Amino acid sequence: MESKQKSIGQLPGLSTRVIHHGDSFAEDTGTVMPPIFPSSTFEHGNPKGFDYTRSGNPNFKILESVLSSIENCKYATVFGSGVSAITAIVSSLNSGDVVLCEENLYGCTVRLFEKIFKKFGVKVSWADFTNPSSLKKINEVKPAMIWLESPTNPLLKIIDLKKVCDIANQNKIPVVVDNTFATPVLQQPLELGATLSLMSTTKYINGHSDALGGAVCTQDPLWEERMKFAQKSLGLQPSPFDCWLITRGVKTLTLRMNQQIKSATALANLLAKNSAVNWVRYPFREDHPQHHIALKQMSAGGAIITASLKANLKQTFSICRSLNYFTLAESLGGIESLVCHPASMTHASVNAKTKAFLGIDDSVVRFSVGCEDLNDLSKDLQNGLELLT
Ligand SMILES: *Cc1c(COP(=O)(O)O)cnc(C)c1O
Repeated sequence: MESKQKSIGQLPGLSTRVIHHGDSFAEDTGTVMPPIFPSSTFEHGNPKGFDYTRSGNPNFKILESVLSSIENCKYATVFGSGVSAITAIVSSLNSGDVVLCEENLYGCTVRLFEKIFKKFGVKVSWADFTNPSSLKKINEVKPAMIWLESPTNPLLKIIDLKKVCDIANQNKIPVVVDNTFATPVLQQPLELGATLSLMSTTKYINGHSDALGGAVCTQDPLWEERMKFAQKSLGLQPSPFDCWLITRGVKTLTLRMNQQIKSATALANLLAKNSAVNWVRYPFREDHPQHHIALKQMSAGGAIITASLKANLKQTFSICRSLNYFTLAESLGGIESLVCHPASMTHASVNAKTKAFLGIDDSVVRFSVGCEDLNDLSKDLQNGLELLT
């Protein structure tokens, strides 16, 4: 059975596309939900062309059909984690290649470049892509690839993706956008000109903090081939069960995000009014430094808020610990609210000088707003901040 979506012609809405996928690979049963195919291997010569699960599995295909549909692109490849997806892309480079990276990339991406791929001769050049001089750097460095993230972690810097992609495309330089924070619901990097849109499906896509996964989306058949090759040859494949969980989780992506964004907007404003807060960063607030770019390329401000408290390390930690509904934990994008102290958690391995340079001091906290009642979350934050007065 061909994917039903394709026969409809006009593209259905996003909330429809997260729920309906292509082939279930069990058409004789009339199953409403897809089965799980834990088989490691498949009979030679089967009509769907399955071979060995490291190089493809029905549950990979089902999730890939949803992800390519919501990214509105031809191809998606799923991986065992966001870091596996990053590894797959970087492994396509050659020794001596230079990657021009946004300087505020996700910590594990930086670690992969500096501790692993550096040994194999892949070089990195860093730039602040909110600074117009970074665009000149593209011509100076002539990188083999440009690596961006927007919004960045944890300061939610917004990079003008179209502007960078336009220049990169003129020079035939592939651009990777890590779209984990925004998801295709808020931002479509491929439409803005990126070659590859990557996401950790561990976060919003699955949304329930019970599976790890990653994906790379593209319109380019050559890149699709490279991603499928990396999946099987590096052993970066996910488990069929995790794909099944993520296929289930993504069905409520728009529902969850609508609620999370509404609450995050309200909580960002609440925090900004609180006298115990130095500053609040939220992409759709007017005081965000790249507010106008956020409005241009995102359909909403997302559900992550970063704030600086008028507090030292000990006080900041006490406040984080005192919250009832915001669990102090790494990760983001689940239905449950989380709070993170980047200086001692996600960015603990970053040296003090770099942290200061990036603006991550002991007073900075990052909230991942979940789906709880806004009233409870508001009270929780207000009670926590009262510790400072
Ligand atoms: C979490 C995350 C990753 C890595 O994903 P894992 O699934 O944890 O491997 C990559 N990029 C960003 C922006 C993330 O938040």
